[in-house]
Amino acid sequence: MNRRVRATIRGRVQGVGFRPTVYRHAVEAGLTGSVRNAPAGVIVEVEGPTDRIDAFFERLRTAPPPQARIEHVEAAEIPCEQSTAFQIVVSQRSGDPLVGMPPDLATCEDCRRELLDPADRRHRYPFINCTNCGPRFTIVTELPYDRPYTSMAPFEMCPDCLREYTNPLDRRFDAQPNACPVCGPRVRLITPAHADVPGEPISKTIELLRAGRIVAVKGLGGYHLACDALSDDAVRRLRDRKGRPAKALAVMFPSIEAVREHCETDAAAEAELTACSRPIVVLRRRPDSTLSSLVAPDTHDAGAFLPYTPLHVLLLAELSPLVMTSGNLSEEPIVKDEAELDRILGDIADYALVHDRAIVRRCDDSVLRLVEGRRMFLRRSRGFVPAEIRLPFAGPPVLACGGELKNTFCVTRADEALLSQHIGDLSDYTGYRFFCEAVEDMVALLEVKPEIVAHDLHPDYLSTRYARKTGAPRLEAVQHHHAHVAGCMVEHGLGLDDQVIGVSLDGSGYGPDGTVWGGEIMVAGLAGFERVGHFKHYRLPGGEEAIRHPVRMALSCLIAEFGADDLDALLARLPDLPPEEARPLAQMIARGIRSPLTSSAGRLFDAVAALVGLCPEITYEGQAAIRLQTAADEDVTDAYNFDLEPSGGMTIISFGRALREILADLGVGAPVGRVSARFHNAVAAAVAACCEQVRERRRLETVVLTGGVFQNDLLLRRSRSLLRARGFRVCTNERVPPNDGGISLGQAAVALARHELGISS
Ligand code: ZN
Ligand code: ZN
Ligand code: FE
Repeated sequence: MNRRVRATIRGRVQGVGFRPTVYRHAVEAGLTGSVRNAPAGVIVEVEGPTDRIDAFFERLRTAPPPQARIEHVEAAEIPCEQSTAFQIVVSQRSGDPLVGMPPDLATCEDCRRELLDPADRRHRYPFINCTNCGPRFTIVTELPYDRPYTSMAPFEMCPDCLREYTNPLDRRFDAQPNACPVCGPRVRLITPAHADVPGEPISKTIELLRAGRIVAVKGLGGYHLACDALSDDAVRRLRDRKGRPAKALAVMFPSIEAVREHCETDAAAEAELTACSRPIVVLRRRPDSTLSSLVAPDTHDAGAFLPYTPLHVLLLAELSPLVMTSGNLSEEPIVKDEAELDRILGDIADYALVHDRAIVRRCDDSVLRLVEGRRMFLRRSRGFVPAEIRLPFAGPPVLACGGELKNTFCVTRADEALLSQHIGDLSDYTGYRFFCEAVEDMVALLEVKPEIVAHDLHPDYLSTRYARKTGAPRLEAVQHHHAHVAGCMVEHGLGLDDQVIGVSLDGSGYGPDGTVWGGEIMVAGLAGFERVGHFKHYRLPGGEEAIRHPVRMALSCLIAEFGADDLDALLARLPDLPPEEARPLAQMIARGIRSPLTSSAGRLFDAVAALVGLCPEITYEGQAAIRLQTAADEDVTDAYNFDLEPSGGMTIISFGRALREILADLGVGAPVGRVSARFHNAVAAAVAACCEQVRERRRLETVVLTGGVFQNDLLLRRSRSLLRARGFRVCTNERVPPNDGGISLGQAAVALARHELGISS
């Protein structure tokens, strides 16, 4: 006897070839019925004998489309309709506009095979894609995700492509970017004068890269600057021209085997490298790697990734590993179209490999590392955006504007948080403009009207000013480090009733007491926090200038610990600081002129890095701490001393003794590796000891470790293991970065929690 079952399937089930797969399984099982997209997901109706229906659902469970993620299946028995065939109902795609738009997907194995198959009609066609792969987020102009609303709209499909697109049994059924050499986009190789370079563009590009040239390559979410990663000359030229002397450059390898030749990997790292999100994964370089050491001169690591577009596959197939770094000037947004190309073409790149499929949305590569097998994002962008992060409770729509550097923003709908792509540095005008465009774009795309706009407490952040200008009915100001902690809490499913010990070790954030915060211990819930401890205050002479010159921070710490009376003795410890620069600084510090107090952990790492002579000044954020971590000898397990000093109901974490011990160690010629390790171990031990104190008073067992300083995985590992040994539950950021790229999630969570509890900032 026949039955009919209707199942609503939720998860990532649209835009990933789900309906054709359902169709194939149903036809194979001899069932009739239908499948269609709906706002809630995909609705399947199957009619036939019970055993075949069971077999069908079993097959769907075990063999879903590769990029689909089934989260929930709700099945109900409905009356039979005596249907005679199985059909895909072409829906109006109304309802939730976002459901059909997963992040951009890397070229799949099937397409890769066809791409390299001389007999295939898409042999060497750099825009090959199918329902399981290809661009999404970066080509959509508006939703629903349908060809006319993508930058593929100007390309009319040829009869062959159209046949694939309309045939439910074809793996390109309903693949919106479907194209071929006859009907689709084309590449061109151009000179700085925008003249075509004669010859086949891809082969010619390979030839130029081999000859050490720098080529701007149009990718999914923007241009890359490419050069030979084995050539010191090429990499040095790229660095000189880009004005990026030392910050690590990502390297694209042709295959996982090639990655293994140059870097140490494990199963978790390889799973990330080969996932359809294709992030840059930070790996340890092998000592015998022939990569130019200039790709990451400050570390033993390399940011490795694999080709994710057909164009990458073709380029890498015939070349050694390529440096593929964002096509931009310093911290500006990544260049995405021809109009902006002249910013990088000519001055930086010798040639540009361009094409005529527009990039609708800028989207930088994502960067992550694995720390004890867990993901730590350094940047969450392409391949992950706009996938939602589930919040522990629902509320009205919120726009959270994020921070000033490494900006992302966040829009919520009910219990979903959608983080933007990496926006970057807002203090740069083009960065701020990108932020404004991206916010408007996201809000329009999601069709939400934010009722609450959350922002940082800092009154001068451009993101804060933007929030004020929105005219939203409700604004919520969120303290920077509370946002870091709250973001990590919701990542771990902690909700309104939970309280944690929040440890936010960070660069700098606005403190409501007029000091610059950044080494914070708080008892925090989602709605509010109480500062229970912080790193000892030091002066930040000249504000921003001290951040750019860690050696000035070192001077500040030494003056605080030893006084300024014998300045010459202090300066003898700081050979990198010219005395004529030091004297006025010492005055500023002593008198507190333009020298705010800061509890920043980031600045303490800067000071120590400068003290050991590793980094008197920086050319990118975090450089001093990166060098200090790289120098650390991980076999050293002992630590410098620290003090927990009670003060006004709070605990001041002082590394004054550690600084004295560092000077003593350096005085007897101790290796920098040992000094660095002992310092890292001291910070970890101080964090653990302070948490222990808080636990005794407050009976809290969960510790959140967050903030940009925890990008230092040595510090993170040491802190976590000490806390675990003391029986704490330790939460770290795994879905958003611990740096300021993650604070928009925290701001949104705090705003929603306050709304839920009926309180306001
Ligand atoms: Zn494919
Ligand atoms: Zn075609
Ligand atoms: Fe921060």
